[in-house]
Amino acid sequence: MSSFSEHPILFNKPFLPDNGLRNIVNAFISGKKSFAQKCQQFFNEKYNFKNTFFTSSCTGALEMASLLLNLKPGDEVIIPSFTFVSSANPFLLRGATIVFADSSADSPNIEVDRLEVLITKKTKAIVVVHYGGIACDMNSIMQFANKHNLIVVEDAAHAIDAYYDNKPLGSFGHLSAFSFHNTKNISSDEGGMLVVNDESLLARAEIIFEKGTNRKAFNRGQVKKYEWMDVGSSFCMSNLTAAYLYSQLEHLDEIQKKRMTLWNLYFQSLKPLQEKKFIQLPKLTALSQHNAHLFFIVCKSEDERNLIIEHMAKTNIPVAFHYSSLHNSSFFKSQYRGLPLINTDKFSFCLLRLPLHYYLSESDVMAITRALQSFYLPNTI
Ligand SMILES: *Cc1c(COP(=O)(O)O)cnc(C)c1O
Repeated sequence: MSSFSEHPILFNKPFLPDNGLRNIVNAFISGKKSFAQKCQQFFNEKYNFKNTFFTSSCTGALEMASLLLNLKPGDEVIIPSFTFVSSANPFLLRGATIVFADSSADSPNIEVDRLEVLITKKTKAIVVVHYGGIACDMNSIMQFANKHNLIVVEDAAHAIDAYYDNKPLGSFGHLSAFSFHNTKNISSDEGGMLVVNDESLLARAEIIFEKGTNRKAFNRGQVKKYEWMDVGSSFCMSNLTAAYLYSQLEHLDEIQKKRMTLWNLYFQSLKPLQEKKFIQLPKLTALSQHNAHLFFIVCKSEDERNLIIEHMAKTNIPVAFHYSSLHNSSFFKSQYRGLPLINTDKFSFCLLRLPLHYYLSESDVMAITRALQSFYLPNTI
């Protein structure tokens, strides 16, 4: 079979901003830690995130969140099983017990209607992941959390510039963590951000961020010397990274416009395969305004998915599955005590991601969708 496209299609390629190197050089020469402030200002103005901490990764931001929860051994944290390990590891590192929750039947996001049975006297917090930048049902989640007095942590790694009920994702939970890893819409190669929405956690967040010292208060002139106040660690993003991140943020609208165009083209072109019941497309809800973080289809079985991967490889189109369920992982399987998580397992076996990045063209997307159509309807192409 010949390739449908004239150049190799990449699965992902981080956006390369024209002002990236200039910003890095400026940061290097000035020696001032000014770029994190510029990034802070950006998120404050655009999304009304008042309290942001720029970290070396989203994993680091989630570790800060976990420290802020003051977890004691035996405390329980509810986490979806269909997610990246970094949604869970930070809580395990603090000695918490992880209670895995299932996905919805029609979306990889956490199933809110079946959370009640997971609640015990020890439940402290719930982590939600907006898979692909499509919002979880935040109204129900916040109601549920308030009823049980839980802290909500949004793992918003996928969710920059995505909204729910016209409010940006990351502004619902007590704490939210974003990623600027080079697989995400906005990347600084490696990087992350913690958003502290619950002001009562802010003073301690500053101390944890400053390696357990009150250096921030000292810098503001509020104390005469700074000293060891609490546990903490080195979470801070380097200024060179922040300089690069800022150059990406300056192009956010352009990046998002392109990604949305490609995403919508995938959705329209693959609709006929969904109508014929071959595949399921991402489910969009009325209140969620997604950010085109990734495009996925859900096929019927793991065997079928393997056949599609082989079929696409013949035309040099890279595709990828996502995630291996955490409750069934080599590490966790033997400790898992909960019910079967059938929807999590379904997505883990049947979900397939298609290439999506700024440098993909509309004709690439058409070539990819034609290749998929030729798998399901070999005689029509
Ligand atoms: C990418 C990702 C992370 C981790 O991000 P890093 O910045 O690489 O630490 C955490 N959670 C989810 C859901 C992710 O996709």
